Amino acid sequence: MDLNALTIEAARAAVQARRTTATSLAEAFYAKIEKTDPEIGAYLTLSKDRALEQAARMDSLAAKGEELPPLGGVPIGIKDVMVTRGVRTTAGSKILGNYIPPYDCTAVARLEAAGAVVLGKLNCDEFAMGSSNENSAWRPVHNPRDLSRVPGGSSGGSAAAVAADMALAALGSDTGGSIRQPASFCGVVGLMPTYGRVSRYGLIAFASSLDRIGPLTKTVRDAAIVLRAIAGRDPMDATSAEVPVPDYVAEMEKPVRELKLGVAKEYFGEGLDSEVRKSVEAAIQRLAGSGCEIVPVSLPHTEYAIPTYYIVATAEASSNLARFDGVRYGYRARDARTLSEMYRRSRDHGFGAEVKRRIMLGTYALSAGYYDAYYLKAQRVRTLLVRDFEEAFKTVDAILTPTSPTAAFKLGEKVDDPLSMYLADIFTVTADLAGIPGISVPCGETKENLPVGLQILGKHFDEATILRVAHAYEQAA
Ligand code: GLN
Repeated sequence: MDLNALTIEAARAAVQARRTTATSLAEAFYAKIEKTDPEIGAYLTLSKDRALEQAARMDSLAAKGEELPPLGGVPIGIKDVMVTRGVRTTAGSKILGNYIPPYDCTAVARLEAAGAVVLGKLNCDEFAMGSSNENSAWRPVHNPRDLSRVPGGSSGGSAAAVAADMALAALGSDTGGSIRQPASFCGVVGLMPTYGRVSRYGLIAFASSLDRIGPLTKTVRDAAIVLRAIAGRDPMDATSAEVPVPDYVAEMEKPVRELKLGVAKEYFGEGLDSEVRKSVEAAIQRLAGSGCEIVPVSLPHTEYAIPTYYIVATAEASSNLARFDGVRYGYRARDARTLSEMYRRSRDHGFGAEVKRRIMLGTYALSAGYYDAYYLKAQRVRTLLVRDFEEAFKTVDAILTPTSPTAAFKLGEKVDDPLSMYLADIFTVTADLAGIPGISVPCGETKENLPVGLQILGKHFDEATILRVAHAYEQAA
């Protein structure tokens, strides 16, 4: 079976028509994982029993001639920050090294209800903190396009698994770029929905006002199919929105002629790699050729996005991560004599260096005397960033930018320089702070054959338009 040529619709149709079975499809993916993953490192845990049970369920539906659900028999991988009942979930951290959750993340449950076969849990930066996947407590992930390079982060395992045909699609999470940037580094599609579009129930929290779940896929159509399956109000997450979920595939196929697409100079300044710039500019030209109108827009507060993000995200993380104390679940240090020593040692051994750095930064930003100067200030700048987008979206339907200022960098290149690692998020964190959706779609390669991503940002709850633009670009390319 040519896993490389497979799409979600093709896989489902083949299982439905009994040209293959969901079971042999899952087995083909496991064989590919066994062969390829030792050098990539995308998977942390395989969930074979659960996958094969679900595959058998889909096969028996197909055998009875019943119509399969939209993801019937489709093998997918899940970033290890989403809890899975009975399947180890670590968030890339030693502190959850042997954590077996008693419940399922809503997005995972919805995928399975739509017929998907969950192959296993995908490697990521610890608690989704990072841009290179090198902060995983278990092992780094290598970029399938060039093993000496990072796959991006923090959903590096998700992007690498899809790029290397070790999953037909994957779920990732995006707090500051972690779906879009790895998608761009690995040459796949990555979609971050609007805040509130997909339930966060069962997503291990990093920064609750920013965290979102979304798909990484080979095609825009596949992303539309997965989003439709996971989106919509969930009573278990009070921040999930009561907004109707459109038929994204149907919406996506509408023509793009006469759509107005904004281009902001703030995303094409200093620090943007010249080859990335060239690919993205060519992509913009191609969309102009498809009849879109390209309109200059300004997002004047963009330069403050990184400091704002790293205050808001670390502040929320310091609070969210307080629950890991070695008492109820997760790693507990054995050698402590007092309760507070047990807390301290459990957290000291259980958390990695980047997570500790974030907890300290966030605790500092929230502490009495500094709260006004940092956290409150950051919240105000966040509002200015929201307004920047509101202004721009008065005149355009979507905004085009590079996803990342560079293509995939080398493993080890930035690990000792957290600031330069943080700067890699410069084009992605703005959409997280503003709550708007964004998609990264492959738009060419550098001379070294490294993929480049075009980012398309949209209005709140208007994933349909960015999918449409991305699809039109993909078709024209
Ligand atoms: N790279 C960013 C960070 O380290 C984004 C992480 C994310 O989106 N989860 O915080």
